[in-house]
Amino acid sequence: MSVLTDLIYGGSNAVAGLTEGAVNDAIAKYGADHAIAFPDTAYFFPTIYAATGVKVKTLGDLSACVGVLKSLITNQEDLGQALNAGLATAVGAEIIEGLKYAEGTNPYENESGIGFVPDPIIRSLGVPLVTGDIPGVAVVLGKADNAADVVKVVKDYQSKGILTFLVGDCIEQVAEGVKMGLEYRVVPLGHDVTAVIHVVTVAIRAALIFGNVQPGDLAGLLDYTKNRVPAFVNTFGAIDAVVVSAGAGAIALGFPVIVDIDLGENQVPGALVSVCDHDNTVATSLELRNIKIKVTELPIPVAFAAAFEGEIIRKADMHNECWSSKNPTAELVVMRELSEVEDHKITIIGPDLDEAKDLALATFVEVAGKKMQVDFESVIERKFHAWFNYMEGVMHTGQRNQVRVRVSNAAYDAGLRIRDFAEVLYVMVKNEFDAVVDKCQVTIITDAAEAAKFRDELAMHRYTLRDDRLASMSDESVDRYYTCILCQSFAPAHCCVVTPERLGLCGAVSWLDAKATNELDPNGPCQPIVKKGLIDERTGRYEEVNRMVAEATHGAVENVTLYSILEDPMTSCGCFECICGIEPVSNGVIVVNREYKGMTPSGMTFGELASCTGGGVQTPGYMGHGRHFIASKKFCAAEGGIERIVWMPKELKDDVGERLNATAKELYGIENFADMIADETITTDCEELLGWLSEKGHPVLGLEPLM
Ligand code: SF4
Ligand code: ZN
Repeated sequence: MSVLTDLIYGGSNAVAGLTEGAVNDAIAKYGADHAIAFPDTAYFFPTIYAATGVKVKTLGDLSACVGVLKSLITNQEDLGQALNAGLATAVGAEIIEGLKYAEGTNPYENESGIGFVPDPIIRSLGVPLVTGDIPGVAVVLGKADNAADVVKVVKDYQSKGILTFLVGDCIEQVAEGVKMGLEYRVVPLGHDVTAVIHVVTVAIRAALIFGNVQPGDLAGLLDYTKNRVPAFVNTFGAIDAVVVSAGAGAIALGFPVIVDIDLGENQVPGALVSVCDHDNTVATSLELRNIKIKVTELPIPVAFAAAFEGEIIRKADMHNECWSSKNPTAELVVMRELSEVEDHKITIIGPDLDEAKDLALATFVEVAGKKMQVDFESVIERKFHAWFNYMEGVMHTGQRNQVRVRVSNAAYDAGLRIRDFAEVLYVMVKNEFDAVVDKCQVTIITDAAEAAKFRDELAMHRYTLRDDRLASMSDESVDRYYTCILCQSFAPAHCCVVTPERLGLCGAVSWLDAKATNELDPNGPCQPIVKKGLIDERTGRYEEVNRMVAEATHGAVENVTLYSILEDPMTSCGCFECICGIEPVSNGVIVVNREYKGMTPSGMTFGELASCTGGGVQTPGYMGHGRHFIASKKFCAAEGGIERIVWMPKELKDDVGERLNATAKELYGIENFADMIADETITTDCEELLGWLSEKGHPVLGLEPLM
């Protein structure tokens, strides 16, 4: 037998033995009927569920799984067979990690890793992955001989936006030099090598959530992870048989493994590769997975990367603050004539970061271009938030005249000044909006009196004009809608139809965004749907929408309505902000946001509801959508509109309540409609809900039956 297959089988057999022992011990301790589950997932033991269709719910269910696991280990001298044994190791790891949750408490509570990754986090990663904002996923495993090496590699991934998961003692090594947490895209999973399964199940659940891969379709699963999940593995330090067999599992899923020891002739081209010089680890890994990184070179003294977007700067680390509660702030993009703008002109009015701690901040960008449109002003302006946050040591929240910016001591010491903010805006506007912006000039005002004048005399006026235009924009007032197929890299059959009153289900693509995207990239993900061929006004059914969706989904979806949840509803990819589903007892619908972890009157959590749809399929009765859609006049319009909403988590209700009330008043003359909608503080029981709705005189009780 070759050294490699020998090692793989050695590891797989060892893990199989450990798994069997652990399952038997757990059954002896708790009994075969003892319930077992990973937290906050609708996919049971995801590897087992995806590969075999078996729903593990009790310890007893695991005994049969151990049998399946063993059958995957044939001990035959054949690389394909050996890789299957690697999958057995993955199953074993999943069981061993799952048993850690047998007590119902969080076994990772006092650990430096996070363990199992809940479904909502995976859903939230959908958009950044499809836009290339997160270009790939790295798994770093083991313990580096020299800690500085692994720190350097992980920092490099971080600067490139790669999402990195850490397993083993490298966690402590990396913690010394890198900021960690999901917001920094460096996520420690756990110390035991079996913790690697927690990233494997992320890939596997992506296939179930976004890819519409059916449980039990192992070939479909492996095809999805190989072709659509841009992940790879880097091991550091010596590797034993268990690591090798886990690596074989990764390879079976299509993830190349790069080790830092010399494997000589045991390397497998494209799949198992030795890179002993850590200076080449990153480049080789990205190449093997064909991951291309878009770099933005900026003449500023701090790092600039999407990985810093979630960075939080606390008071103690803060050097400066520009905050609307203390000083005037405003952000504004205005379109000008070409002759009115001097390209790359930067003007700073007022003190710099070394002259005052608290500053005003009016950020004014004037753009001109032959193809520029007034509608794109707000699209560009909204990007300020991300671009400022991308600077390491800068935190930005808010928009328009409600802004808060913090600069850290470290960024200040590195030499960051107001001019750098202006440079960032100039370079990024020219980079990302090159198709419409020919010239761009930036003015930043930190003088309080001047900033107030700018805000009150120019900015506020422009915001009002814009709001009036947005308010007047309806599905009826435009002549075209847009498709968005960005999510097809994960959900191949999915297509959003974006209209003025119905934004993309991720919440990130409004009709204006889609319009701008189309202008910037005419052959790109957003294509215009000329509004013609009306078939049915009530449900929002158009021949042209059907034709464009059929084309965009390669025939997978041929009939779709814009406003119905029951009749050919829009497809869901998986990254939706909210899901609505019918609640049969009250004859209404509930709306649940991704952040809500508790139970709902449908008897399902968000995750369970979400698993009812997704992967680009239509599921009458369930529909993913953006937060902003809830107060739209078009929400479930075919079924009676927002009058159908009977329950929402409190946080969501508070967030959209005001707009919901306005819509209810306008459409039905109902005052304070949000107060008639129940939440978890009132009840999560469907019978109680019905009683409560009757007490409140909720209008749903007078509507026609849904089914
Ligand atoms: Fe994905 Fe739809 Fe959002 Fe486009 S609008 S990014 S397809 S969820
Ligand atoms: Zn999506």
